[in-house]
Amino acid sequence: MANLTDLVRTAASLWASAPAGSDHALLSLRVGLRSYFSTYNCYPYCRIEFRPTGPSQQWHGTPHSPKYAENSMEAILHFQHFTELACKSILREEHLLLADEASSKPVILYKLLKGMSLNTEEEAEVKSIEFTTALNRLCTLIEAGLVDPCKYGFIKDDKMVLESLNGLRNRLWHRGIFVLRYDALDEFIGKYFFPLMGKLVSLPWYAEHETYWRYEPLACGLDPITEIQRIFQEPRYDFEAVALLKELGRAALLTPPVRSIFTLIDSTKLDSKAEGAAAALADNGLASRVLNCPVCNKLTLAVLEESESGWNSETNTEEYFYYVSAVECMYCTFSMDNSLGIPVRYRQSIPDYWAPETN
Ligand SMILES: [Zn+2]
Repeated sequence: MANLTDLVRTAASLWASAPAGSDHALLSLRVGLRSYFSTYNCYPYCRIEFRPTGPSQQWHGTPHSPKYAENSMEAILHFQHFTELACKSILREEHLLLADEASSKPVILYKLLKGMSLNTEEEAEVKSIEFTTALNRLCTLIEAGLVDPCKYGFIKDDKMVLESLNGLRNRLWHRGIFVLRYDALDEFIGKYFFPLMGKLVSLPWYAEHETYWRYEPLACGLDPITEIQRIFQEPRYDFEAVALLKELGRAALLTPPVRSIFTLIDSTKLDSKAEGAAAALADNGLASRVLNCPVCNKLTLAVLEESESGWNSETNTEEYFYYVSAVECMYCTFSMDNSLGIPVRYRQSIPDYWAPETN
């Protein structure tokens, strides 16, 4: 058994410097996206309470649930981590010592200045500079024209967004009691973070690794990230549209479903397993029909029905009324209930499952 020091050193060696683009930035981005998109799905019962009402946009929400707090926290922490690594990767493109600190280690400092490679133990001793220092350093160098303003000027333009994200992260990290309000999180991400994210993932060393973080195109043709950005260019916060897009994005990131290595069913058979599950719901009377899913396009979207009864005084009989209560995909997990409508702007892409003519 290794002692504690050796254990930690082993872990540290995994973080040895590597070519730009091979750090954990895009993995953090994917975790952040998955968490942000899940902030709607974690309100299956009380999400309607979070609708802003009236022109004054007063907020009548119940306290945010632990699940919301978890997802919003994960989103901010990982989005900040992504931006921090991305900014440092630009500095390292110029010189390692612009992003790393080795002034108290003369041998390491000498090797870095001379462009010599470090051994694993020396790599572990290199400390990365603080994010605020990295950002200020980067903006100053861009302003001086020493770091290409044409390529990286957007960092300086979006400095306030980066500082705000870092401030949110610090409040979460250091005090551990902070939760960003549901609508504020949507606006921060849609209006400020996504546009910046789009520029960062276009950096050459990230652009070729899009599959690390981006979902496959959705069957309905909508791109949740693009659409959410578009909504926040409009004057009104469209709660329903953003919520639907987040749910589409959440399911898209799960497509194809991540399979446990312990699952005995071959991945090629997951389709028929999901189709069988949806058909079984229809056979049992729990689903009125099965449709193609707007995310994965498989015939696995169960249209779930419920009924209510009422007394007909004319016929003196009890009558039952059936209505669609929810839809749920047995393959990619896309789901929504009838507390959320399909916004008119998306009805050419996604059927209005609750409309009488489609029941
Ligand atoms: Zn699906």
